[in-house]
Amino acid sequence: MSDTATTDTAMSELLTTSPDFVDIGAERTHELDRRHVFHSWSAQASLDPMVITRAEGSHIWDGAGNRLLDFTSQLVFTNLGHQHPRIVAAIQEQAAHLCTVAPQHANAARSEAARLISTHTPGDLDRVFFTNGGADANEHAVRMARLHTGRPKVLSTYRSYHGGTQLAINMTGDPRRWANDQGSTGTVHFFGPFLYRSPFHATTSEEECERALEHLAQVIALEGPSTIAAVVLESIPGTAGIMVPPAGYLSGVRELCDRHGIMLVADEVMSGFGRAGRWFACELDGVVPDLLTFAKGVNSGYVPLGGVAMSEAVAATFADRAYPGGLTYSGHPLACAAAVATIRTMEDDRVVEHAAALGDEVFRPGLEALLEDHAWIGEVRGTGAFWAIELVSDRETREPLAPYGGSSPQMAAIIAGCKRRGMLPFANFNRIHLVPPLTTSADEVREAIAVLGEALAEAAAAS
Ligand code: PLP
Repeated sequence: MSDTATTDTAMSELLTTSPDFVDIGAERTHELDRRHVFHSWSAQASLDPMVITRAEGSHIWDGAGNRLLDFTSQLVFTNLGHQHPRIVAAIQEQAAHLCTVAPQHANAARSEAARLISTHTPGDLDRVFFTNGGADANEHAVRMARLHTGRPKVLSTYRSYHGGTQLAINMTGDPRRWANDQGSTGTVHFFGPFLYRSPFHATTSEEECERALEHLAQVIALEGPSTIAAVVLESIPGTAGIMVPPAGYLSGVRELCDRHGIMLVADEVMSGFGRAGRWFACELDGVVPDLLTFAKGVNSGYVPLGGVAMSEAVAATFADRAYPGGLTYSGHPLACAAAVATIRTMEDDRVVEHAAALGDEVFRPGLEALLEDHAWIGEVRGTGAFWAIELVSDRETREPLAPYGGSSPQMAAIIAGCKRRGMLPFANFNRIHLVPPLTTSADEVREAIAVLGEALAEAAAAS
């Protein structure tokens, strides 16, 4: 037997017999969680987290053994579904070969991940700075924009989420900002386009586009163009409501930025890597940003990874001048190996094309039919595998079924009804988002839409 074969055998025995593999059962998991784990964005006392014991493809299993269709992709990151064998194998092989190296050294997994990402990012965004997730990607993109332009301010929209670190949460528009808002970090908010709840009293998407651009032009003029380093936009705002911008909006923002020497940062943390039926959602309007941030779908979230792809001009700023920033785990080999496997699988299996077809052929007709049948649905919108259902108590007034920043008994009943029927939806305020893995089948999407219809009917009858 060769040395390599001996090592391989030892490794596979180690993987199957490790005394540290944790299998303590659902009940003990829950008990220890409640005693020792501090959860995100929550008052801790009343939490009752669902234990997930197993997952495969588009399904998860809860602590009681129930199988649920995962139409959350967790936090919209398992773009290739759960336990994809190719990603799991890449992580295992990388772990067996070389678990970790410091960021100053070059590493094959990181180099190849950066090359693959660069083949799909638009325009000349061919250089990648790796981070651990989306918030720090946005932090670094803004730091780069500030140093590149020599200007302090950053503009972002109210209906947005850019992450939980200090600058990212101040750029965020949604209510998670309120308790963290220091108000002095150079972030300025404006209104992006959202025809259903138009801040501009528009009645058509053309009007919404024109007025939203006019509004941004005024904000830029009144803030002082020479003080603005960047406009940071989710190409499609995600958690804030999946508002696909009207045609011409992103390119109009690009034009405004060019006119004033402002960097355009596209936050593609949620909308990127196929979610919108394109590799990146900014492609929908043919826009090349100066900086593009990503995380989540880059490696299906199997190991934490995010990053900033930058233009040649931004990269050139730091050719002879040190970039003042870094992370211990920038471009971690395990995370990058997972990215390589994810991107190659997306290419080989035509996953982005599948997501686009799911959107056009299954989600759109299915959800539009649901809209006909349920008075609580005010609007359905989305693209690819990225859909929102806007729920209202009154279609005329468009009164949300739960207040902005809050929940309601009706929303709780709909979510519970979905779960009871075997489908986990992503819920935010008065919205249900259907955001499954991009590998979900057409039949699974039809099943989820049927479940949502039943849950809506049940909740409406009970209210
Ligand atoms: N940007 C967007 C658009 C996001 O949706 C998120 C997370 O949901 C983030 C940034 C922050 O990413 P992370 O939680 O990995 O820091």
